[in-house]
Amino acid sequence: MLKLVRYLKPYWWMVVLAIALLFGQANAELALPDYLSRIVNTGIQQGGIESAVPEAVRQSEMNRAFIFMSEEEQAYVLARYRLVDSASADYADMVERYPALAEQPVYALNDAGKADTAALNPIMGKALLSVYTLEQIAADPAKAKDLGSSFGFDLSQLPPGTDLFSLLAKLPAEQLAQIKTTISGKLDALGDKVLVQSAAPAVKAEYDALGMDTAKMQMNYILRTGGLMLLLTLASVVCSIAVGYLSARTAAGSARDLRHDVFARVEQFSSVEFDRFSTASLITRTTNDITQIQMVVIMLMRLVFYAPIMGVGGIIRASAKATGMWWLIAAAVGALISLVAVIFVIALPKFKSIQKLIDRLNLVTRENLTGMMVIRAFNMQGFEEKRFDQVNRDLTNTNLFVNRLMSAMMPVMMLIMNILTIGIMWVGAHQVANLQMQVGDLLAFIQYAMQIVASFLMLLMMFIILPRASVSGGRIAEVLDTKPAIVDPPAPRELPQPVRGDIEFRHMSFRYHDSEEDALSDISFYAHAGQTTAIIGPTGCGKSTIVNLIPRFYDVSQGGIYLDGVDIRELRQADLRDQIGFIPQKSVLFSGTIASNLRFADENATDETLRAAAEAAQATEFIDAKPEGMEAEIAQGGANVSGGQKQRLAIARALVKKPPILIFDDSFSALDFRTDAALRRALKSYAAGSTLFIVTQRISTVRNAEQIIVLDDDGRMVGKGTHRELMQTCETYRDIALSQLSTEELE
Ligand code: ADP
Ligand code: MG
Repeated sequence: MLKLVRYLKPYWWMVVLAIALLFGQANAELALPDYLSRIVNTGIQQGGIESAVPEAVRQSEMNRAFIFMSEEEQAYVLARYRLVDSASADYADMVERYPALAEQPVYALNDAGKADTAALNPIMGKALLSVYTLEQIAADPAKAKDLGSSFGFDLSQLPPGTDLFSLLAKLPAEQLAQIKTTISGKLDALGDKVLVQSAAPAVKAEYDALGMDTAKMQMNYILRTGGLMLLLTLASVVCSIAVGYLSARTAAGSARDLRHDVFARVEQFSSVEFDRFSTASLITRTTNDITQIQMVVIMLMRLVFYAPIMGVGGIIRASAKATGMWWLIAAAVGALISLVAVIFVIALPKFKSIQKLIDRLNLVTRENLTGMMVIRAFNMQGFEEKRFDQVNRDLTNTNLFVNRLMSAMMPVMMLIMNILTIGIMWVGAHQVANLQMQVGDLLAFIQYAMQIVASFLMLLMMFIILPRASVSGGRIAEVLDTKPAIVDPPAPRELPQPVRGDIEFRHMSFRYHDSEEDALSDISFYAHAGQTTAIIGPTGCGKSTIVNLIPRFYDVSQGGIYLDGVDIRELRQADLRDQIGFIPQKSVLFSGTIASNLRFADENATDETLRAAAEAAQATEFIDAKPEGMEAEIAQGGANVSGGQKQRLAIARALVKKPPILIFDDSFSALDFRTDAALRRALKSYAAGSTLFIVTQRISTVRNAEQIIVLDDDGRMVGKGTHRELMQTCETYRDIALSQLSTEELE
C-alpha cells in the first residue's frame, strides 16, 4: 500500500495546494460560530453596542459616573476623553454627531482612549451601570425597592423627586465609600463580557440622550457581521470546490498512472505469471481495485488534513468560549470511538472478502461469455445460471451486510450528536442563568462541539475506508512487485548476421512450475534452416510445450535451446521473437479488418505482401469472396469467420513477417486434406530458406518432412528421422502411421 504513495509524487504541488486550501477552509468554518455568537451577544442582546466604553458622554452624566470611580480612575478616564464645548474647533462637526452638545459640553473619546478600551472597559462599565441603575430607580419608584435592596440599601424611603446623585455627592465620604464598595463588589463578580453586556443598555441610553440613532447603529453592526459571515462562507465554499477539483485531478491522474504501470507489467508477464494470477483477477485488479484506490485518494486529500485542523481548532476555540463543558464533548467522542471500533472489527474481514468475490464474479462471467456456445450445446444454462447466482448472491449479501452496518451507524451517530446538544443546552442554560455565560457563546459552543465531533467522525471513517483500500493496494502492489520469470539478460548478445534460423535443442528438459513431473525430458535435435522439422505424438505428450519454448514463452528447466549457436536466454526477447513466425494451436484474431490483422506482423507491409502471404496461406479464396476483400470486418476474437478461415488468416499473418523460423502448432488440423497439401506446397516456395516446425497428428502432413521428432506419452523423444527411417525403427511412429493410412499408401 505504502509503495503506491509514489504515484502521488507527480501531483505533489496539487496536494500541497489542497492542504493550504483546506487550512483556509477549516479556519473560515471555525470562525463562523464566533461571528454567530457576536450577532447574538452584541448585535441582538447589546443592541449593537460592542463595549462599555461610549465614544461620547454628556458632561452631566460623566460627573455622575465619577461618583463611582476612585481618584486614579477619574484621572485615567479624563486623560482619555476630551471635553468638547461650543468653543471647540470641531464644534460644528461634533454637534451634528452628538445633537445634545447644543445644550451642554460633551466628553468625546480621544485616540488614547480608543487604544485603551480594554482598560477603560471595567472602569466605565461599572460606573455607567451604577449610574444607569440609579437613574432607572429614580425614574420609577416601583422598581426602587427591589433594585435598592439588591444594592444593600432601601431607596423606597426617599421622597419622590429627590435627586439621588446630589444626595450621594453630599454623603459623608465614609458612607459613600461603603456604598461604592457594595456596588462594585456586586459588579466585580461579573465577568468582563457579562459586564459589557450588562452595561450595554446604559451606553445605549447615553447614546440616545446624545441624540444618536442607536437603531441604525444596531442594524449596521448586524449587517456588518452578517456580511462577514457571508464572505467567510463564500471563502469556505470556494476552498472546498478547489480542493474537490484538485483531489479529483490527483486521484484520477495517479489512478491512470497506476493502471498504466499495472498494464505494462502484465504485458511483461510470461506464461508463468499468467498461470499464477488468473485472468479474471488481473482484470479486477486493473479496474475495480484501482478505482478503490482512486476513491481513497480523494477521501484522504479531503479529510486527512481537514479533520485534524477542524478538531484541534474546534477544541481550542470551544474551550475559549466555555471551559466547564469540555467533558461533554469528550464523552461524545468516546462514545463515537467505541461505536466505530465495534463496526471496524465486524466489517474489516468482509471488506477483504468483497474483492475476492468480485474476482470470482469476473471469472464466472468470463467463462460464461466465452463458453456460451458450449454451455448451450450441453444445455447447461440452468447449471451456469445457478453458479452465477451463487457468486452473485454471495457478493450481494456481503455488500448488503456491510452497507446495513454502515447505515445503522448513521442514526446512532446522530443520536449521540443530539444527546450531546441537549447536554450542552442543559449545562449551558444554567450557566447563562447564573450570568456566567452569554447566550451567543452557548450557541457557538454547540456549533464547535458539532465541528469537533464531525472531525472525529471523519477520522474514524478513514479508519474504515483505509483497510478496504489497503486490501486493494496490496492486490495491486502484488502485481507490480511480481518480477516476470522471463526477462532480458543484463548484457544481451547479438545474433550473428545474417540470421540463418538454425535451432538446436540440447539435452533439454522442461517442467511446469506447478507440476511434479517433467513435461519434456532430455530432448536433443537439430532443426536446419530451409528444412521442415515435424513433431508428432499423442495428445498431451508435450508437442505444444516444445514449440512454446522456442519463443521463450517459458524457459527450459535443464539443457538449452540455441538459435544459430546462441543460447536463446542470452538474446533480447524482442530480437528472438523478431525471427519467429508463430501460429498458435488456438489462433487469435483481433477486432478490425483482415488487413489490419495481417499487418499485426508488420505495420508497414505493402498490399502486395499481404496478398502474397494470403495466397500462400490459401486464404485468398474466401477473402475474395467477401465484397470488401481485405477490408472485411473481423469481429472481436475472430468470431465471424470459420475455424479454418481463422487458422488460414493466422498463418497468413505469420507469413507477412517473412521470418527465418516458422512454427505451426497443429495449425493444419482445421484444414481439409486438399488445402493442407496446397498450403505445404506453397510454403516450399514462399518460405524456402526458413526453418519450419510443424506440430501435427496427421502422418500425411509430415510425410515429406526432412526430420520427424516422435514424442511418447511421457514427453520423451522416442524417434528422430525421416518417414522412411522411422517406419523401420520407431514402434510408436509406426503405430500412429498404421492407424491412419492403408499399407499401400505407406509405401
Ligand atoms: P500437446 O502435445 O497436446 O500439445 P501440451 O504440450 O499442450 O500437449 O501439454 C503437455 C502436458 O503439459 C500436458 O500433460 C498438460 O497437462 C501439461 N500442461 C500444459 N500446459 C500447462 C500449464 N500451463 N501448466 C501446467 N501443465 C501444463
Ligand atoms: Mg498441443
